[in-house]
Amino acid sequence: MYSVTDPATGELVEEVPNATDEEVGTAIARVHRGYAAWRARPVAERAAIVLRAAELFAERADELAAIMTLEMGKRINEGRGEVGVVVDIFRYYGERGPDLLADEPLALRGGEAVLTKEPIGPLLGVMPWNFPCYQVARFVAPNLVLGNTILLKHASICPRSAVAIESVLRDAGVPSDAYVNVFASSRQVPGILADPRIQGVSLTGSEQAGISVAADAGRNLKKCVLELGGSDPLIVLDTDDLDETVKLTATARMRNCGQSCNAPKRIIVLGELYDEFVDRFAKRVTEYYVPGDPADPATTLPPLASIAAAEEVAAQIETAIREGATLRAGGHRVPGPGAYLEATVLTDVTREMAAYHEEIFGPVALVFRAETEEEAIALANDTPFGLGASVFGTDRPRMVRVARRLEAGMVYLNKSGGSEADLPFGGIKRSGIGRELGPLGIEEFMNKKPIRL
Ligand code: NAP
Repeated sequence: MYSVTDPATGELVEEVPNATDEEVGTAIARVHRGYAAWRARPVAERAAIVLRAAELFAERADELAAIMTLEMGKRINEGRGEVGVVVDIFRYYGERGPDLLADEPLALRGGEAVLTKEPIGPLLGVMPWNFPCYQVARFVAPNLVLGNTILLKHASICPRSAVAIESVLRDAGVPSDAYVNVFASSRQVPGILADPRIQGVSLTGSEQAGISVAADAGRNLKKCVLELGGSDPLIVLDTDDLDETVKLTATARMRNCGQSCNAPKRIIVLGELYDEFVDRFAKRVTEYYVPGDPADPATTLPPLASIAAAEEVAAQIETAIREGATLRAGGHRVPGPGAYLEATVLTDVTREMAAYHEEIFGPVALVFRAETEEEAIALANDTPFGLGASVFGTDRPRMVRVARRLEAGMVYLNKSGGSEADLPFGGIKRSGIGRELGPLGIEEFMNKKPIRL
């Protein structure tokens, strides 16, 4: 069952039944039927439709933001910001797509070839609730320009976002059989991947979902892109403005109520700065992040996406404390009906504790002490994940040197989290396979077909 439950109040607002197997079959047939016509259209036409979608997303930003606030408790201003990024992603692929898809001459040692860039067919997208519009955009915009058609299964707590996104695309001119939203359950995903008409799958979500989808893709020899969880390190090497560094790192960690895959979940501070950093960070987190109504632009700490999510994160905090971590701020559920959890800071987390190895998907920062740059790098890399990483400091060559040694899919200097349309995004290790955004994002489901001249 898909449903909308307001996480600020716990109130059930709407239920939407899952698609039947027959409806899923019809949806597959539609994107399969639509593929031949969509791929045959000139790339300039597909790109123009994607640019029109950018305009419509911009026009409907308030409506989309309000839906996300209701469905998963996103702060209304963050929702508007998210739609801004979506607009930029659709613009980027609408504007740059035709160039990115142009034939490339290949100078062979003996003779000539041209590399053509073609779509591969109907794709399945399986998307999460934490950025209901942005995650879909990353997958959909490049693939529509490329000429693939898309069957989209959104998270079961985001049915209204799913419908609103489909109507933007429809109104922009995407044919009704080139993009189809389907309220499939996760149990129906293996059947979709087994269907020979579906050529690939992109999943953004948890490690467990990734394992399951990758296994189904493998069994059926389908290409998959996986954008999974992370426990990104943020290393503070030095600073000439500790308050600013504290503010930036706290903002990055608490963004989206801590429910961002690439938030800095582990903050690693060099020895001489550590004590002062932790004091100021805990103070900032306690004083600034106050629970409130996510629809109020002044709110700093919205609810998590669901009561279950808040309870799960609270249990992770309790386990960490029981195992010996020190609670420096927050740590408890906020009394009341909503999915609220205090903004939390934990220190003294060691390798023996679960919190050291797992992703904590909520407003919880772990702060570690490292005596040397070498120790900071080792700590940063000692994780099963490898999504993003950040290095803060004042000495750029030193920061770049550290960045090169981090086992991550992407590294940011003096910045953390966030996403840009033209910058590739993705992870290594248990954080995923493949890249989205930028020039690489359009290549994942591309048939790079050389023609030997
Ligand atoms: P999730 O529970 O894995 O759900 C993601 C999507 O996968 C939903 O549509 C879900 O459907 C579906 N799903 C779940 N289990 C499945 C299965 N066994 N087979 C097929 N589909 C399945 O993840 P989430 O809780 O929504 O999202 C949070 C996670 O996503 C975090 O770990 C976060 O770090 C990660 N994430 C990663 C990125 C990135 O770019 N690397 C970006 C954002 C989020 P239902 O809703 O119907 O269960």
